[in-house]
Amino acid sequence: MPTMRAVQVSRPKGPFEIVEREIPQTGAGCVRIKVQACGICHSDSLTKDGSYPGLQYPRVPGHEVIGVVDSLGPGVSGWSPGQRVGVGWHGGQCGYCDACRRGDFFACQTATRITGVTSDGGYAEYMVAYASALARVPEELSDVEGAPLMCAGITTFNALRNSGARPGDVAAILGLGGLGHLGVQYAVKMGLKTVAVARGQDKEPLARKLGAWRYIDSQAGDPAEELAKLGGAKVILATVTNGDAMRAVLGGLAVNGTLMVIGAVGSLEVSPLFLLQGRRSVKGWYSGTSIDSEDALAFSVLTGVRSMNEVFPLERVNEAYERMLSGKVRFRVVLTTGR
Ligand SMILES: [Zn+2]
Ligand SMILES: [Zn+2]
Repeated sequence: MPTMRAVQVSRPKGPFEIVEREIPQTGAGCVRIKVQACGICHSDSLTKDGSYPGLQYPRVPGHEVIGVVDSLGPGVSGWSPGQRVGVGWHGGQCGYCDACRRGDFFACQTATRITGVTSDGGYAEYMVAYASALARVPEELSDVEGAPLMCAGITTFNALRNSGARPGDVAAILGLGGLGHLGVQYAVKMGLKTVAVARGQDKEPLARKLGAWRYIDSQAGDPAEELAKLGGAKVILATVTNGDAMRAVLGGLAVNGTLMVIGAVGSLEVSPLFLLQGRRSVKGWYSGTSIDSEDALAFSVLTGVRSMNEVFPLERVNEAYERMLSGKVRFRVVLTTGR
């Protein structure tokens, strides 16, 4: 049997193991992908640490995948070998459960499919994905450019475009890391008056370079007050993983404004009175489905939005992952297979 290199985790909090594995077979409704690049996302720690319920080992992480269709399983139509595709967090949908029948594919109830969590992901030379999880990748995007857009990109893009904010509205992006540096770019290109909110003055030049209209140093004063002075934010995109940081800006929401939460935090304290008096809302946003990914990729090509990446070959996965965890990375980490 032909084999491939893959990076697997064999037990909760176990190390990454670089192994030779059989190239996986392509099952019904699935395609096999020759992986070219895969981003490392903070959510890969769910697989690494075993914190996702019911996780089975060994497991290959990775849900920011760009590759080429290698073979089609039975019953797959609309895709062909040689086609460039991307796979994100959403691993596909059944199409027949109640959620799918209502068009809420992201909430598919029958088989929650998460790339690199419930099935093997992109830290490998080949992977198998459901055809319903595939996004077309525009030729203008390189493999490395495309990879981080399959999670960090689609998540920020999709949350913003579903926030209710319209061109000319004030949009605050809380946090200027892997998600935030994309969120600022998308908001600017969507015609929003984009306010970057982060800790310290040293991030202001970056925010400005990415096109931010204003920068608020959340340590220098009250960020909610500063946002209110700008008329209040129609949307605050919370990319941080800190409930206190979210609470500190919440008061800067405009009437009818929405706090879009995409960073997973333990808990978040909100004043009901503040919400109801201004008809404000707090909402979570799921990254999106394959067509949302395709939209995010196409919009990125159209407007020039790109992630800033540090690139490592698959063999250096440990170093790459540590770099992601360190928080020092500017701004996403991408593995390449050399295929
Ligand atoms: Zn992710
Ligand atoms: Zn379903």
